[in-house]
Amino acid sequence: MKSIYNITLENLEKILVENGYKKFNASQIYDWLYKKRVKSFDEMLNIKNALKEFLKENYTLNTIKLIDKQIDIDVCKYLFELNCENKIEAVYMKHNYGHSLCISTQVGCNMSCAFCESGRLKKVRNLESFEMVEQILKIEEDLNLRLTHLVLMGIGEPFDNYDNVINFIDIINNPKGIELGSRHITISTCGLVPKIEEFMNYDKQVNLAISLHAPNNEIRNKIMPINKAYPVEVLIEAINKYINKTNRRVTFEYIMLKGINDSEKCALELSKLLKGINCYVNLIPYNETSHIDLQKSSKEQILKFYDILKKNKINVTIRKEFGSKVSAACGQLRSIHEEGK
Ligand code: SAH
Repeated sequence: MKSIYNITLENLEKILVENGYKKFNASQIYDWLYKKRVKSFDEMLNIKNALKEFLKENYTLNTIKLIDKQIDIDVCKYLFELNCENKIEAVYMKHNYGHSLCISTQVGCNMSCAFCESGRLKKVRNLESFEMVEQILKIEEDLNLRLTHLVLMGIGEPFDNYDNVINFIDIINNPKGIELGSRHITISTCGLVPKIEEFMNYDKQVNLAISLHAPNNEIRNKIMPINKAYPVEVLIEAINKYINKTNRRVTFEYIMLKGINDSEKCALELSKLLKGINCYVNLIPYNETSHIDLQKSSKEQILKFYDILKKNKINVTIRKEFGSKVSAACGQLRSIHEEGK
């Protein structure tokens, strides 16, 4: 049986009309699911019995299970078990601008970035849209609040699960549903160029973040295998096209790895690479993990790097460090659970 949380409002309207029900029933169902947050079809009071039976026969509710959480100041990390028993993570972060959630899009990941814990487990499967929707519902319920921002930066490569991710955004963006504004949603990709090209034609103003992490092919090839398929110059060309088409600013993520990509020379090279591009750079202090032999750059080095970008008129911020205590670097909580078995 399919999950009801997998269906966009438009598709639900179509399905209902095809089966002899009214189009407006879809809005009513959306209201019960996403505004009133009922847990069963029986609680949908204004829905006629015949339609309730139809829903029960064809759809499920609630299929992912919250099995662990770790709480720290302004951050809470969640572990979920899917009905296939695989586990995924999501991280809530309290910012001064609102309540933000980072969700997973796949079980495991095939991108094999050298610094990333998630990629140590190869992709088992894509998440279905409902499994992304439910991460939001379960966490909003647990924290008793409504999220204001969403980032697709947990386990997985969102553009390697493109259709389900777009369907998911269509569901949560709908004003009759969870109603997360598209400008408050960010997709992060390691740089799958064909999907960046497809994404520029998507009609919603969702933010795009690119995990760049290196100013040239030599370094990027060493830490991100995807660079061999889509090298830096090809990636930058696609991003320029994206910006021309959408008029939107792009974020470049840049993890600061000691001795690998954090030199002054790298900062200069990065400034040159990004000169004139409507973007900003987010410098990320590396979250060290016991399985991977890479170290974070020192605070001084990060500040030096930051200053060079600033001097060269590149918009740059240093990401606030969250959750190293709660193993918040992506993939770490799942990984700890696997070891405990
Ligand atoms: N696959 C997508 C989204 C998941 S990774 C992507 O590559 O963008 C989300 C971000 O977290 C990426 O920028 C990734 O490079 C970064 N990241 C991964 N492991 C990290 C770690 N240990 N410390 C800090 N950032 C990390």
